[in-house]
Amino acid sequence: MKDENIVWHEHNLSKAERSQQKRQKPCILWYTGLSGSGKSTIAGAVEKKLFELGHHTYLLDGDNVRHGLNKDLGFSDEDRIENIRRIGEMAALFADAGLLVLSAFISPFRSDRKMVRELVEEAEFIEIFMDTPLDVCEQRDPKGLYKKARKGEIKNFTGIDSTYEAPECAEITINTATDSVESCVNKVIGYLQANNIIVN
Ligand code: ADP
Repeated sequence: MKDENIVWHEHNLSKAERSQQKRQKPCILWYTGLSGSGKSTIAGAVEKKLFELGHHTYLLDGDNVRHGLNKDLGFSDEDRIENIRRIGEMAALFADAGLLVLSAFISPFRSDRKMVRELVEEAEFIEIFMDTPLDVCEQRDPKGLYKKARKGEIKNFTGIDSTYEAPECAEITINTATDSVESCVNKVIGYLQANNIIVN
């Protein structure tokens, strides 16, 4: 329940100070796309590269968050919205800590991604659209989920019987059907360098 007696407390250290100490500008790299489109693979490879370059990162992964913080949520539209709302708030806190946050969630609804975008400063939200075609994702089927969804064993599966709303103006678009992991990683790192989020 909301309490009007709860007042935001300004602490001594600012986001700017925390991020300057880490020699980076905080941001949220928000990977969105179908299951099997490569979100976890590319986010993981980008995080490894950033770590090697000496940056401070944290990767939030869909399935992992559903084991803990969001284990009470399912896949109805209502639960998917709450799932993204909590993740967005968590990503914003990590960005406030001065980190480069990578998040890998299908996040199928435009309005939810917009809600997260509005939680942070304009340049801090970088939407990465994993534009890998459904047939490629389904052929890969790394977790066997498409097969189950086609048999009707999973309901509300994005791309099969639940919609995916593609971004209209993502900062970065990636197609893992045509580009190697290495070239996808280089595209993201190149964007961060070109926009002065990282300097090396
Ligand atoms: P998501 O997180 O979007 O569900 P995953 O990263 O878990 O997707 O799965 C993508 C699958 O596609 C992995 O099995 C990965 O090895 C494979 N794959 C093949 N080529 C690529 C590529 N160029 N980029 C990313 N993943 C690729």
